[in-house]
Amino acid sequence: MLSYLFEDAPDAGQLREIVPGVLWLRMPLPMALDHINLYLLEDCDGWWIVDTGIALGPTQDLWESVFERHFQDKPVKAVLSTHHHPDHTGMAGWLCERWRVPFYITEAEYFTGLSFSRTQPEHYSWTTALHMERSGYTAEQIAASREEFGGFGSVITPMPTAYRRLVDGAFLSINGNRWQVVVGRGHSPEHACLYSSALNILISGDQVIPRITSNISVSGAEPEGNPLKEWLNSHERFLERLPDDALVLPAHNTPFYGLHERLRYLIEHHEEHLLALEEACLDASCSAMELLPVLFKRPLEGHNLGLALGECIAHLNYLHQRGQLSRTVDDHGCYRYRSVDSTLPKRLRQQRHAAEDNSPLQV
Ligand SMILES: [Zn+2]
Repeated sequence: MLSYLFEDAPDAGQLREIVPGVLWLRMPLPMALDHINLYLLEDCDGWWIVDTGIALGPTQDLWESVFERHFQDKPVKAVLSTHHHPDHTGMAGWLCERWRVPFYITEAEYFTGLSFSRTQPEHYSWTTALHMERSGYTAEQIAASREEFGGFGSVITPMPTAYRRLVDGAFLSINGNRWQVVVGRGHSPEHACLYSSALNILISGDQVIPRITSNISVSGAEPEGNPLKEWLNSHERFLERLPDDALVLPAHNTPFYGLHERLRYLIEHHEEHLLALEEACLDASCSAMELLPVLFKRPLEGHNLGLALGECIAHLNYLHQRGQLSRTVDDHGCYRYRSVDSTLPKRLRQQRHAAEDNSPLQV
């Protein structure tokens, strides 16, 4: 059983102390997932901001009121984003300009964020259309996805023009505590978590979240990508590298104990999904779109449909690249998957679990 440090969460724009020098700040998000947790680390000569909130709605005003109420004595000295998604980098450019401070992020996250923040609707290319066709989208759905296409430049302030590179295994010294950078992959290319052994606290970003599952997606930008393999490998490494009794400060939901249980659950959750997809492709050749109900029981549309389809393809790429599913192109240009692993029925008997209804994280 996971256990939670608090029964409730602070209101938007309000701070709560986790331990002296580590504060929790909530910011609102205008979507079903309605909040993000940010963390403030007090150094001897200023504050580190870990993740920034999205550049929409009241976020900037809430930041100003935090500065007014709590930052009279010490300035902001650094801004750090765990990864490039807009709720984590949205205000980074503004914060770094306002305080003239450095921006810390890993290399892959910096350049991925820079690229996506500058993507325009006209960058919807034949490769993107082909990826959607291969996934089972109709011509009408491809046209609609073209209409919606665009980067996230509209929900972030321009990315900082320079960065300081976070590297896996390196340390940041903050108020005498050494915070180790622990990189995880799969949800995003090079996601930085921070772990302090002195405090036994892990700031986990979107890499480990207690109640919702992070979206693991293949997109048209890298149609043959295998992010699920990276995600599962990262979780195995986290089990080896990080202690079970660490207090985990996630970017969504609330701070919790039970890191290893959560990591094992997430590994199992995806293994069950893989098995369910193999089973669904045992007697018929299926497309990614046709396989969505195997993973997601609730109706999907719009943005959620895109995330769910990306996650379904992540599982199909994983199985295909391991040789457990064959993949052919049908007359409509759509990939069809079929189970080829002769050990499947035996494995199914050994490990029969129903696939769970978990919608992907909407970030
Ligand atoms: Zn994210």
